[in-house]
Amino acid sequence: MTDQKSAGDSATYWVDFHCHLDLYPDPVATAVAANDKRVRTLAVTTTPRAWPHEREMFAHLEFIRLALGLHPELVAERASEIALWERYLDQTRYVGEVGLDGRRGARGSLPQQRAVFQRVLDVCAERGGKILTVHSAGIPADVVQTIVRHLPPDRGRVVLHWFVGSKSTTAQAVEHGCFFSLNAAMLQSETARKTLSYIPRDRILTETDGPFTKRDGRPAMPVDIPDTVGQLAAFFEMKSNELAIQVRTNLKLLLS
Ligand code: MN
Repeated sequence: MTDQKSAGDSATYWVDFHCHLDLYPDPVATAVAANDKRVRTLAVTTTPRAWPHEREMFAHLEFIRLALGLHPELVAERASEIALWERYLDQTRYVGEVGLDGRRGARGSLPQQRAVFQRVLDVCAERGGKILTVHSAGIPADVVQTIVRHLPPDRGRVVLHWFVGSKSTTAQAVEHGCFFSLNAAMLQSETARKTLSYIPRDRILTETDGPFTKRDGRPAMPVDIPDTVGQLAAFFEMKSNELAIQVRTNLKLLLS
């Protein structure tokens, strides 16, 4: 039996821990395809206002989970939706996309972004048991330090998505118990490849961040995760099946 076959047999599943299902032309069809292929998909959201509708869209799908988010790049216009975010929070275990964006273009709203992100972390710490998928583009050290200050590891768990940070920042995140969801696009960047080499294997999850990443010139989808696993496995010098098993083990640990 090939790696591919044993990793894909019906007793197993794949993991896409950060995907914007709501941003595809046909969100439900994309979700159904993921569900049929047994890709456990965390559908992140960007604005709490869309939450009730999104919940309805994906509720019937066994392999889809929905995260309640307020995206840092939308905070400039939507900071006031934090009240709505707090109101819906008890309806899910998953939070995201949240975080900070320090890149040109978003930097201007950093004071508001910080206020919102700290509030998110404080409320999660208060309520307990949440799992967060966190954005840290351009400002990884700042994000990790904010998490360390506001969310004790026994009050909530963090998955850093598309994380590109220095060796010491990555070590600080690992020390705090963070996991990392990795996508195939990261392999195209020398800096990101460096970060990947700092991440312990028992903290690795996989993601597409679709539709923001591409596969063969079209937006990547959760059903592309077997290919993501293959590419990442080659980087880590593992067999595809070995990495697929590692990711499932890690997810179990994260959810336990
Ligand atoms: Mn994203």
